[in-house]
Amino acid sequence: MAVVRLAGMRDRLCSKVGCAREAMSTLTYDYGDQMAALGPLGRAGDPHAHDLCAIHADRLSVPRGWVVVRHETLRA
Ligand SMILES: [Zn+2]
Repeated sequence: MAVVRLAGMRDRLCSKVGCAREAMSTLTYDYGDQMAALGPLGRAGDPHAHDLCAIHADRLSVPRGWVVVRHETLRA
């Protein structure tokens, strides 16, 4: 019997310090365009991506002059 490990099936946790909630979305910064994109969980290990739980995704704030693009596929 082989034990099959499914890559990417482990829990993804919020990247905010002190937060242990499950990540629900991934935030990526585009410094060139001063844009922050919030969407469904992206691939793991992307150094430019930050996983956020639902609460921190809601409370997301970006530097002045930045644009937030939310992919509203997260909510029904
Ligand atoms: Zn969080």
